[in-house]
Amino acid sequence: MILPPATLGMLGGGQLGRFFVTAAHEMGYQVWVLDPDPESPAGRIADRHLQAGYSDRGALDELAGACAAITTEFENVPAETLEYLARSKPVHPSAAAVAICQNRIAEKTFLRDNGLPHGPFAVIRSVADLERADGALFPAILKVARFGYDGKGQAVVENRDEALAAFRGFKEEACVLEQKLPLDYEVSVVLARDAQGRVQCFPTGENQHRNGILDVSIVPARASTCTLDNAHAIAERIGERLGYIGTLGVEFFVTRGKLVVNEMAPRPHNSGHYTLDACVTGQFEQQVRALCGLPLGEARAHSAAVMVNILGDLWFGADGTYREPDWQRLLAVPNLKLHLYAKRQARPGRKMGHFTVIGSDPAQVQAAALAARSALG
Ligand code: ADP
Ligand code: MG
Repeated sequence: MILPPATLGMLGGGQLGRFFVTAAHEMGYQVWVLDPDPESPAGRIADRHLQAGYSDRGALDELAGACAAITTEFENVPAETLEYLARSKPVHPSAAAVAICQNRIAEKTFLRDNGLPHGPFAVIRSVADLERADGALFPAILKVARFGYDGKGQAVVENRDEALAAFRGFKEEACVLEQKLPLDYEVSVVLARDAQGRVQCFPTGENQHRNGILDVSIVPARASTCTLDNAHAIAERIGERLGYIGTLGVEFFVTRGKLVVNEMAPRPHNSGHYTLDACVTGQFEQQVRALCGLPLGEARAHSAAVMVNILGDLWFGADGTYREPDWQRLLAVPNLKLHLYAKRQARPGRKMGHFTVIGSDPAQVQAAALAARSALG
């Protein structure tokens, strides 16, 4: 067990890393953050910010020297970096688990090999693979296997010709071609799993996206109890099969009443931000607990919640002028918690913050959250 005031290491300095630093500080730990960006949100509040690349051996040695255990806030940290650090210090989640979650081909293959529900797909490494792909996959979505996020690196393609054009547009990088599924709705499960295999699942949330970016998470999800329980069971099985230690996010589609896994994130998840304000233990505290070998906290929600993402678009008025949103108006809404990530520059599509409305009645919470959002403009 790693106890405070030990120093913990975080790879990545975005908002997820920043919340981890805050949770660790709350519990008396110190945190070093590695991120090349001099203004990274987590680096700016860390006890030490190592401003270096994720493969910089000198910086990695320094991090491993100072930290009792190391984790990550984003899936694109090179698996070799995690392997290298793991030679000298505990690293959770493991390089192997992250390697699966960071590559859509490895991820889909993992789901298939473990008998977990997933949509029809084909692995596309060449034009020949596309020419051979099952015609029943169309209309489809072509997704680059690596480094896609928030809908980037994806193209909706009606037929093989469009898929070929999109594949060339992606410079013939390895891709997966997924059948475009009719979505009833989307849900996600965030769970925490410790080294003994004990699991705490947060309540399943319903997620609504806008332009491929998470917009709103609603908890409890408006789905049948059976669907919700099933989502927990599948997410737990994924955690077990990955030998996962830490906080894990699993995104699902509900298509024609059936759950299929969309993708996994080897870290806390945007759809789990509601846990900060509506659960006994938040997803970042669980990440600290799992990393340090502490008992996991209770995941139970004490409130219904609706989380709304705040994107950089909000900083640009109708005429394109840059201005700070009207926080005063938002903060006047009862039972609303505002979280801003202190990013220096707003850009359209950039995640700048979120707010969560909590309460006892799910319908009232939803109405209040939607009203709060329209008040923001
Ligand atoms: P990202 O890494 O950007 O989150 P996702 O694979 O989760 O990528 O896709 C983003 C969103 O696009 C999903 O949440 C869903 O709304 C939509 N989407 C992705 N794949 C499919 C699919 N096969 N069928 C229907 N909708 C999809
Ligand atoms: Mg996604």
